[in-house]
Amino acid sequence: MSFQSLGLEPQLLDALSSLGFEQPTPIQLDAIPVVLTGKDLLASAETGSGKTAAFLLPILNRLVQTVERGIPRALVLAPTRELAQQIVKHGEELAAKTELRFVLLQGGANIGPQCERLAQGVDIVVATPGRLLDHLIKGSLSLSAIETVVYDEADRLLDMGFKDEIQRIRKRLPTNPQSLLFSATIDDAIENLANVLLDKPIRISVAGTNKAATPIIQRFYAVDPEKKQKLAAYLIGKNNWRQVLVFARTKQLVDEYVQEFILDGLPASALHGDKTQGHRNKALEQFKDGKIRVLVATDVAARGIDIPALSVVINMELPFVAEDYIHRIGRTGRAGNEGLALSFVSIDEEWMLQELEVLLDERLTPQWEAGFEPDLTREPKNPKKNSNSARKSRDKKRILGQRSKRRTR
Ligand code: AMP
Repeated sequence: MSFQSLGLEPQLLDALSSLGFEQPTPIQLDAIPVVLTGKDLLASAETGSGKTAAFLLPILNRLVQTVERGIPRALVLAPTRELAQQIVKHGEELAAKTELRFVLLQGGANIGPQCERLAQGVDIVVATPGRLLDHLIKGSLSLSAIETVVYDEADRLLDMGFKDEIQRIRKRLPTNPQSLLFSATIDDAIENLANVLLDKPIRISVAGTNKAATPIIQRFYAVDPEKKQKLAAYLIGKNNWRQVLVFARTKQLVDEYVQEFILDGLPASALHGDKTQGHRNKALEQFKDGKIRVLVATDVAARGIDIPALSVVINMELPFVAEDYIHRIGRTGRAGNEGLALSFVSIDEEWMLQELEVLLDERLTPQWEAGFEPDLTREPKNPKKNSNSARKSRDKKRILGQRSKRRTR
């Protein structure tokens, strides 16, 4: 099926062909007709599936068909600045042949230019929740004409504690705007949120049919903590990987690893919440341009990163929350490219590996790399399993287990 047959306006078809998008991805095929009818939507789709265009195309289509301009009529809420930036960038490409204007309202940036842009008139607002509230309180923006609201990466909006902000923003919206909720995982928390925000939503899940998010090869290495960075540097050098996204658990570890990679002759940069927005943008640009080979990031900072060619992700530590693993490895294997996700597991992290096995519903066996074998006489520092999160993981087993099976080789 083509974009033409979805009934999109010629200006949008033009932009799609300039971008070289020949066919809709599965989420686009499923979501665009629903959004065009004006219904609410609850979609389970990951970054990399083409979900941004899945909600932006029908929104732009509706706006293009009317004559009003310069009044915010669509709102997209995103958990992180990086994701918000990407949505605007992608949106401006899709809207290139129209007169529709986007505004990016993100924290960490000067509010003045955002106010100026709002005053000039915009049609689509893309915002992180905190900064959006700043504008609403300041009076530089009114949401009274909003027709469609998108809650993008809603699972992460909740993880990052934006529930109250979402409620406060909702009070400023018209009574029943069309509402679209996208989430990588659909669990009880998302179901509860959807009950509040959505009205009889159409449900879409692209798990299994989503070519854009497959395939990802997952490998696990048993290695002692102090050897992890050296193992990463060794594998990067040996395989001549040019662009590697590395996840570390804390900001401090991110900074330490960056220093060590640089000492090993691998150009590296850090992406975490203590870095300025300017630094974060520069690091991402240099990574995309191939000027740095290794980008080391925390989970929160990495959310929303979209680098189509990204082929390798390394988890220096397993995440405490097993679901974060799904988000991390989702950074690779995008838009149909094969991806490789390596995870380094020390003896202290074995309980996390067990949680991951429950979540993915499969046996994960770490391998050893010659020269980096773990010291088998060590005792785990914290052998206790976190029973709460194990239970939570088991609840999600059914949904995620099915998807991950297809993604694992
Ligand atoms: P997203 O899931 O929205 O972050 O999109 C992931 C990547 O897929 C982005 O780099 C998009 O530019 C790209 N993309 C989205 N839709 C298509 C399509 N129909 N054909 C090819 N690439 C696409």
